[in-house]
This record gives sequence, structure tokens and C-alpha cells, in this order.
Amino acid sequence: MPSHRTHDEGNSAIADLLRALASVEAAPPLRAKYLEAAVAIAALGRPIAALLRPDGSLEPVAGVSPAAARVVVEIVTTGSSPTVERALARSRPPARSGRAPAARDTFLDDAAVAAMLADPTLAGPSLADYRGDLQMHSTYSDGSQPLEAIVATALARGYEFAAVTDHGYGLPVAHGVSMARLDEQHREIDGLNAAHAGRFRLIKGIEANIRPDGTIDMTPPELRRLEIVVAAPHGALQSQADQTARFVAAVRAPGVHILGHPRGRKRGVRAGVRVDWDRVFEAAARTAVAIEIDGDPRRQDIDHVLARRALDAGCLFALDSDAHATDEWAFADIAVAHARLAGIPCERIINCWPLDVLLEWAAGLRA
Ligand SMILES: [Zn+2]
Repeated sequence: MPSHRTHDEGNSAIADLLRALASVEAAPPLRAKYLEAAVAIAALGRPIAALLRPDGSLEPVAGVSPAAARVVVEIVTTGSSPTVERALARSRPPARSGRAPAARDTFLDDAAVAAMLADPTLAGPSLADYRGDLQMHSTYSDGSQPLEAIVATALARGYEFAAVTDHGYGLPVAHGVSMARLDEQHREIDGLNAAHAGRFRLIKGIEANIRPDGTIDMTPPELRRLEIVVAAPHGALQSQADQTARFVAAVRAPGVHILGHPRGRKRGVRAGVRVDWDRVFEAAARTAVAIEIDGDPRRQDIDHVLARRALDAGCLFALDSDAHATDEWAFADIAVAHARLAGIPCERIINCWPLDVLLEWAAGLRA
């Protein structure tokens, strides 16, 4: 996915808004402060979003006054700035459109991902800490990769394990795999694992669907046949209704290990569900269900902003590519970049655990 955008795209958008704010600010000292902050942020060598503290304040940046920092925090956390919008609305005629960078600001492009992976000041996981991918799709459902290709690609990336998580039978639109086909897949996995014993381990997984009422579309006996269950929403994603109860129910459902692409957002398509995430994270922390950072560049779900709140709630995390093809495995790097921005320590990331620890945790949550 080649990109010609620079890593400071978000910074430029924020600097533009601060310049717009300066242009309608009547008081010269304040106007100068906003302009100075715009220059400082545009010249910053990393996304200013990375400087957001867990308590919602901004780390000090030279040239960014407290008033400017307040605007930055508004934009970074919500995608828009009521302060700027109010100031522009008051001015006649409006100096600029004043459109905020919106939610896309939390999407990282290739250059931003590379910068986050290389930034030694970030406390989160490195690629070397990452032992295996826990969401991917094979030719058994809607993926293009046979199981042998999954093993070969995992070995080439230096992984110790990978979970095959094809869609379950409840999602025929994604060629969900029947329980009979799943038995065939498990026999094939057993053969591959025997061939790579001590070196690499395929994990028997599934991506089950979370129904709109929060129940999982597979039975507990079916889920017990799997080692890792990713539960993810694939419907009612455009609804404007509050769906907190749906997601709290999903992380409390027996047999669920990972809450997959929780928001259901898709870049340029939909913003995702309306949920009180702090309540879902609190429930997930209690049940030890991992919150996924899905690295698909169109998803990036959850992003680093929400991930910090999940971290504060005490959650575990899964960082996954959601690869449907062998050339999509690098999507995991995008998830790692978000985890670094959020400062998630390795002990909270199940992909960074030794295989035996991972399997022990998984067995403890089995339906
Ligand atoms: Zn999915």
C-alpha cells in the first residue's frame, strides 16, 4: 500500500485549524499564541496524538500554549474542536470552512506506522516482541491462503504460532465454515503441527459473529472444539442506537477469547458503533477477554486513543492482521504501531506471551 502522504498529515490538519482559529481571534496576544502553536505542531517530527497522556492532557510541547493544547486535545480525542467551531461560527464572514480532520485522524498511514515502530521513546511492544498473529482467514472461508501458505508465511516472519480464525457458519456472506468442514480443517492443522512440532504451532480458531442482541452465533459445545474464539460484530454497524449492552454481553459470553474489530468502523464507509466503551472495557478486564487492535488499514480498530482507555481499565489486548491473503500479514505492524502509541506493555498483549502461557489462558476461558 504505497502512500505519498507524510507522517505529519494529522499534525498539518491540526495546524490548519489553529491558523483558522488565529484568523478569527480578536486579541493579538492570543492570535500570536495560536499561530506559534500551528508552526510548532507542523514542524513536530511525530504525530502530536502520540503526546496525549492517559489522563487526557497533552505532554508539554515547546510553542504550544495551554489554550492551544486544549484545542489539540479536543481534535485528537474527538476528531473535531468545539472551540474552533464556535470561534468560526461567531466570526462574520467565516474565515475558513473550519472542518476538523474528523475520525480519520486516528488512522495511521504507512509512514506514520514506520515512524511509530522506529521511535525508541514509545513504551509499547516492538516487532521483535510479537510472537504470532491471532486473527486470519484461510481458503476454508473468505481468505485466499491455504493452511500451508499460512505456516510458510508465519515462519518467514519469525512467528512461533498463528491462529486460523475463519468465519463461522453463521456468516454465509463470508463463506462461513460449517462444523463438518471445520473438522477437516482441524485434521489438516494436526498434520501441519506434527510436521513442525517444537518449531511452530497453528492454533485452531474461529471468528464467530456477535448478533445484534450480544449473543454469539455458535453454541458452547461448538466453541469448546476451538482453541481461540474471536467474537466480532458484522451487523447493525450503521445503527445510531447505543449498543453498550450488546458488547458487554459479548465479552461475558462463555468461550469468547478476543473481542475482534470492536467498533466495526471502516474508513470512508462507516464510523462504527455507538458504545460506552469504558463499560465494555471494564467488563472485558473482569472476564480476561482480550480487546483486539485489528491492523487492517481500513479498520485500525480499536485505535490508539481507545486503546489507552482499555489499558487504564486493565484489559488484555490482541494485535492482529486480520489477513485474508499472505501479502496482508504486515497489517499486524499497524496494530503494533497503535499499541506503541497507546503505551501497552507486552505483558498485557497475548501475542507477546510464550505459547504455553497463551494456551493456558485460552483453556481457562473455554466454554
Ligand atoms: Zn470480522
